[in-house]
Amino acid sequence: MTDKPVKPKPLGPIPAGYGSLDGELEIGGHPASYWAAKAGKTPLFVYSRDLLDGRVAQLRAALPDRVGLNYAVKANPYLPVVQHMHGLVDGFDIASAGELAITNKAGIDPAKISFAGPGKRDDELEAAIAAGVTLNCESEGEGRRALAIGERIGKAPRIAMRVNPSFELKGSGMKMGGGAKQFGVDADKVPELARELIEAGAEWRGLHIFTGSQALSAEAIIEAQANVLKLAAKLANDIGHGLPKLNMGGGFGIPYFPGDEPLDLAAVGAALSERVAKLPDALADTDLCLELGRYLAGEAGVYLTRIVDRKASHGATYLITDGGLHHQLAASGNFGTVVRRNYPLAIANRYNESANDVVNVVGCLCTPLDRLADKAELPRADVGDLVAVFCAGAYGATASPSDFLGHGPAAEILV
Ligand SMILES: *Cc1c(COP(=O)(O)O)cnc(C)c1O
Repeated sequence: MTDKPVKPKPLGPIPAGYGSLDGELEIGGHPASYWAAKAGKTPLFVYSRDLLDGRVAQLRAALPDRVGLNYAVKANPYLPVVQHMHGLVDGFDIASAGELAITNKAGIDPAKISFAGPGKRDDELEAAIAAGVTLNCESEGEGRRALAIGERIGKAPRIAMRVNPSFELKGSGMKMGGGAKQFGVDADKVPELARELIEAGAEWRGLHIFTGSQALSAEAIIEAQANVLKLAAKLANDIGHGLPKLNMGGGFGIPYFPGDEPLDLAAVGAALSERVAKLPDALADTDLCLELGRYLAGEAGVYLTRIVDRKASHGATYLITDGGLHHQLAASGNFGTVVRRNYPLAIANRYNESANDVVNVVGCLCTPLDRLADKAELPRADVGDLVAVFCAGAYGATASPSDFLGHGPAAEILV
């Protein structure tokens, strides 16, 4: 049998802000191998303060001052990252009592925190109400349980209504609005429930309208934001109480795959500035915010994993690493993608060498699902070299099954 030459598959685009130092990928002013040595182990997530700062600065420059920024903790709940974001953003969105424990540890004022998510347990509601966190109410049942718990502990719950809108964020990777959903209260049922909760003594905090995630189209985001503002104004009128706050959702995406283009942030900011300059009366005194996860943290993180073996099989070359889908489920193509495509990836310690080899980069798990790159064109690499997987700052470490196969969690470091 003769082996045909392998046709390479493209890799996703390496995010802006990464350069080289001493021939290696540079992160936070040092070569990648420096951080691997400093952590004392691989695999390792390296998150960059500079890149987190830079992204927030870009957002502040593009968005109107009137619109605040919230960080969605689920994207990256690593405590040093959350603590760092504390100095950068205006508020935090959590989705469990576990995340509340993290924001507490980070010393974040509960008045800056809102708690969304279906299926909040009574003990979670109690912890949030006692702390003074705003509950983004997801259902009639949850609203009434919150009131009863507030009464029992002698503290009025702070409640915003999470709305399930009839529209969605077009082209988003994960749709969380439009039609039947487990999230939020259907828009037409919001006014009655909001009035019931307010009249029963809840501290009214306004609305939360999240329409989707991972959108790269400015046009789609602009349209969704226009719809959100229109719906919020209508609901405020129907409820008969002004909105102290409107969480407009987010959905800003980052390029992961070949052909993905970065979001045109300037266009989104310009359109939002125009709308904010002529808000309907119902929103004149409302605090506005966006909630972002991956757009803030995703590109600021790199996953470093070391090559353990290099082998050939039927003409294909495999670089087998000490990492894999147990830390980077999304890069393996098993976290919400239909067709597997390659994430951006590089040989970190041969960052400037020319790509003259076509290889499959795989993890160490005993399952064929554990692939980090298929038919990637990379510099020739061997045992001991470091593979960098980009876009690892969000939905990496905690969105992957790190117990699967018993290799244990990756190290994490904020630099
Ligand atoms: C997951 C989630 C986010 C963050 O989404 P990203 O795509 O990471 O920006 C924000 N808000 C809510 C309600 C979420 O569920």
